[in-house]
Amino acid sequence: MPKKLLRVALAGNPNSGKTTIFNKLTGTRQKVGNWPGVTVEKKEGEIRRNGYDIKVIDLPGTYSLTPFSIEEIVARDFILEENPDVVIDIIDASNLERSLYLANQLRELDCNVIFALNMADLARSRGIHIDAETMSKLLGVPVVFTVGNKGEGLEELIQTTIDQAESSSGIPDERKVRYSKDIEAAISELKDAVNAHTDETFPYNPRWIAVKLLEDDQIVQERIRQKMGEPAESVIETAQQLRGQLMSRFDEDPEIVMTDERYGFIAGIIREAVTHTTLRRVDISRNIDLVLTNRFLGFPIFIFFIWAMFQITFTVGAYPMEWIDAGVGVLSGFVDGLLPQGLVKELLVDGVIAGVGSIIIFLPNILLLFFCISLFEDTGYMSRAAFLMDKIMHLIGLHGKSFIPMLMGFGCNVPAIMATRTLESRKDRILTIMITPFMSCSARLPVYIVLAGTFFAAKAGTVIFGLYLLGIVVAILTGRLFRSVLLRGFEAPFVMELPPYRVPMLKSLLIHMWDRSKMFLKKMGGIILVGSVVVWALSTFPRDIDYSRDYHTEIDRIQTVYAEKIQEAPPDRVAALKSERQALIRDVNKARSTEKARKSYIGRIGHLVAPVFEPVGIEWRGSVSLLTGFVAKEIVVSTMGVLYAVDADEAESEVLRDALRNSGMTPLSALSMMIFVLLYVPCLATVAVIARETGSVRWAFFNVAYTTGVAWIAAFIVYQGGLALGFGA
Ligand code: GDP
Ligand code: MG
Repeated sequence: MPKKLLRVALAGNPNSGKTTIFNKLTGTRQKVGNWPGVTVEKKEGEIRRNGYDIKVIDLPGTYSLTPFSIEEIVARDFILEENPDVVIDIIDASNLERSLYLANQLRELDCNVIFALNMADLARSRGIHIDAETMSKLLGVPVVFTVGNKGEGLEELIQTTIDQAESSSGIPDERKVRYSKDIEAAISELKDAVNAHTDETFPYNPRWIAVKLLEDDQIVQERIRQKMGEPAESVIETAQQLRGQLMSRFDEDPEIVMTDERYGFIAGIIREAVTHTTLRRVDISRNIDLVLTNRFLGFPIFIFFIWAMFQITFTVGAYPMEWIDAGVGVLSGFVDGLLPQGLVKELLVDGVIAGVGSIIIFLPNILLLFFCISLFEDTGYMSRAAFLMDKIMHLIGLHGKSFIPMLMGFGCNVPAIMATRTLESRKDRILTIMITPFMSCSARLPVYIVLAGTFFAAKAGTVIFGLYLLGIVVAILTGRLFRSVLLRGFEAPFVMELPPYRVPMLKSLLIHMWDRSKMFLKKMGGIILVGSVVVWALSTFPRDIDYSRDYHTEIDRIQTVYAEKIQEAPPDRVAALKSERQALIRDVNKARSTEKARKSYIGRIGHLVAPVFEPVGIEWRGSVSLLTGFVAKEIVVSTMGVLYAVDADEAESEVLRDALRNSGMTPLSALSMMIFVLLYVPCLATVAVIARETGSVRWAFFNVAYTTGVAWIAAFIVYQGGLALGFGA
């Protein structure tokens, strides 16, 4: 029997449980990609039921289909242009009023929609009783209750989806939002105008087109120009005239009036279909918020959470880190023993294993960091953080909303910068983009862990926390500067959404964490591998170095001298002599590798740029590491691994730590270097995304120059200030 195909899209507000339901429905049969042309994630999966092959698409979460943000455009376009057989709107039943706005827009769109009243458990426990039958009748749409995280109601949801696809009747216009008389009249006139110029092949619902044209929706204007050709102009012209009339009638933009009326409609439905069976419990969320967003307590608590996040990242992460470290050491030793001396072995051991190995050990830290960020998001604390930061953000002339991308920047600057798409004002966006790279991304963490761990031992967590804080402060100062010089202006205030708190589900936390950490692993195999090999090549060539001393002869001489000594010595002295010999040989070898590194290509580059970094207390090997860090900041560590641990037989990080301690680096210069790493030029990928998101290469170049300048100045102040205060040793 031939398989019947169905395409089903999941729509819904952010946090309504879409991804949870998607995962439960499709299990592991998922494909993750991007929507064409934009970097919003697209997830697809498959279900087989009753002879149907059901392809499920997880649309981006949106509160409406008014195309203000890229998510809304993506979601709407998909429904409009791809015509899924059924759209399942996942509704947060504990938060009906907000969810029904999107639900009604879906109905207006005339797609084949069904409603999943998710979070049915929460609604129940809050004493909200929803009469599904009434609701379904009022709205003309099938309604199914679900509890996404427990998988309840999902079979019924699939069955209803199939039934709906088979019956496939649209929603009659009478069942949709009824606007007030003047607006309905305008809609009707416009609808006729649309109908007059189209036939059955016209793909959109004429009433919906009329509504959108009255709302002055630019994208819809574009669409009908494409589909209708010449006559579109006259339709748009009519729409503009009607808009003008409505505007003078209501003294308000029609879209505002229509939004109000939609909420009125929703309030009506809720009155009909929802009863509160118990006295409405004092909202737990509100109680929690009394503390967490308290005027005095809120901010210290927020700082504490962030501090705790880094403590956990650092202390808990230390254990698996040791295991991986040991594993890398074993692997390195194994390959070392396996291969004959030569370039291939050096490439593998000193290039690939040392380079990638020095970074893979940070995987636990990064997983933990992302876990904490997911925890903030899934519990609903993230928006409280934005809310708390609102005041501080106002100092820069930005809203708390801009803080969410900035907070995401702790994970990775690239998605953070893309997250600025939710900001509506272009100036706000550019400003947020310009300051986000100061948020210390997870790639910088390995550098801190190595340097702070080596030089600040027990206080490492606090030092790292201080660095993150410094990043925020610099971001704020920068924002303030730019706002008053480059990007003047301030947008109207807006209401910050505070979704209810929720106990997060471990599985969904893990999925979110993993989704983000995958990128880190991809980087390991890609840019970091290549970077490590390039750094290794630059440090190992040219091969024919003109050494200042004849190291081989020196070693031979030590061997001969000690061979004699050992033979003549009394038996109880032999062991001491042997270790003396070993120490001497190690010193010679170390001197040789140091000279080799200094005379390699990378050493030459290092010495070329050294004068620039000398005033900030960073010696040539550090300078080179910073240069290579432009590719990806993790590479700073692997470069240090190659340059400092050149004589090590193993890629173990303890070796790097010892080497750093012996290299003349002091806590002060380590701090200076960490500050530099924190503030200087974002990585290649970030620069590219800045260029793309601002639409201008000039902003990207400007950002590179500005951040690097700031980094140097800050490091200079700290280093020279520290020296003056006597912290040099
Ligand atoms: P999305 O933003 O719509 O993709 O939402 P997610 O699928 O990420 O879910 C947000 C949070 O709600 C997660 O922590 C889920 O575990 C939780 N969740 C999802 N469905 C339900 C439900 O029916 N009841 C309850 N109590 N929690 C749910
Ligand atoms: Mg999701």
